Amino acid sequence: MDHVVVVGAGLAGVRSVEALRAHGFAGRITLVGEEPHRPYDRPPLSKAVLLGQTDSTVVDSDLEALDVRLCLGIAAKGLRDGVVETTEGELDYDGLVIATGASPVRLRGEGCQHVLRTIDDALALRAHLVPGARIVVIGAGWIGAEVATAAAKAGCVVTVIEAGEAPLSAALGAVAGGHTIPWYGKAGVELWLGAMVGSVDPDGVTLMSGARIEADVILTCVGVRPAVDWLKGSAVAVEDGVVVDEHLRTSLANVVAVGDCANWWSRRFGRRMRVEHWDTALGAPDTAAATLLGEVAVYDPVPYFWSEQFGHMVQFAGHRGTAERLLLRGDPLVDEKWAVCWLAAEDRLAAILTVDRPRDLVQGRRVVEGGQRLDVTRLIDPAVTLRDC
Ligand code: FAD
Repeated sequence: MDHVVVVGAGLAGVRSVEALRAHGFAGRITLVGEEPHRPYDRPPLSKAVLLGQTDSTVVDSDLEALDVRLCLGIAAKGLRDGVVETTEGELDYDGLVIATGASPVRLRGEGCQHVLRTIDDALALRAHLVPGARIVVIGAGWIGAEVATAAAKAGCVVTVIEAGEAPLSAALGAVAGGHTIPWYGKAGVELWLGAMVGSVDPDGVTLMSGARIEADVILTCVGVRPAVDWLKGSAVAVEDGVVVDEHLRTSLANVVAVGDCANWWSRRFGRRMRVEHWDTALGAPDTAAATLLGEVAVYDPVPYFWSEQFGHMVQFAGHRGTAERLLLRGDPLVDEKWAVCWLAAEDRLAAILTVDRPRDLVQGRRVVEGGQRLDVTRLIDPAVTLRDC
């Protein structure tokens, strides 16, 4: 293998370059990215960048030392066996890494609609976060909650509109997500639940119910779609992202996929998974690089995610899809720090959500990995160390 092309210059793309070199690949590497910027991290965009604490989140990676040809401001448009078609011509490859991430979903309507995916989005939004500005955030998911936090801190009048019964209900279910409802009121943020936006208008939003909410700034945070349109018509199978096996191989020889755009087979959970989290973009490229170079490697993590919202560190590990019931460690109405545990059959931990309990998260992730049975009476006592349950 002489030439590997990595398409997508986000975290998963950069980590793929690093992993190829770490696995001893000495051939040429070309990293193609649609954005004009050097690769940067996205988690700080809705945190430190919006709060005005930093303007740059460039990934700490010495691309010069890695001897990679960086092609920025160039998009991949199509793929044939051995050839990536780009906006600047064709690139031949022997090995290809697909790391094109995801793009935000937008809603109907004529009004100006901000989204938050890129550093440019974050800087544009930040300019509007001034005292008294009326901001409507559509979607109380992870990013919506973080933006609401930053906007409230900046003195904006913040309204969050959520279609589900509770914040974070798509990720956590309404019961667990419901425990975060009081955080909104405490921060002075108005939260509308079970409210569907019909259209984004020039001066606000109109709900399906006909109600109108006026706004100076509207941010749509209703999720993302894998950025895989450029693969249409290619031999790479796509279904909710690029379909890959447990080695991160696509349906086309010598092509692997990683990060937000990859839909991989999890041996551990016995199902396909596409996880839009930083830790996946960080970890999967090592397996993908090994696979591309002919080693045998399997990607099978316990997914991990964190969010910083309303002054809380919220962390999640596992996959709650196999869970039969959930239990609380601590009382969210009384305790500052608490956790939710999702239990699968035989009281094995499927997933854990922790609020300001980082040790529970670390131990919980190991317990999910280990798959041991838990003593439920000890588990619900937050004074008992989780690994001793
Ligand atoms: P991306 O970071 O999306 O990178 C893909 C790159 O490919 C992009 O630069 C894109 O422009 C480029 N590209 C797309 N199409 C093409 C094409 N056709 N040709 C060339 N280039 C292309 N995760 C957490 O775990 N915790 C957090 O707190 C957290 N906070 C977040 C906050 C924000 C605001 C956002 C947006 C995400 C956050 N995430 C968080 C998620 C995390 O950042 C992503 O999971 C991670 O960035 C995925 O990395 P990636 O490299 O797969 O994709």
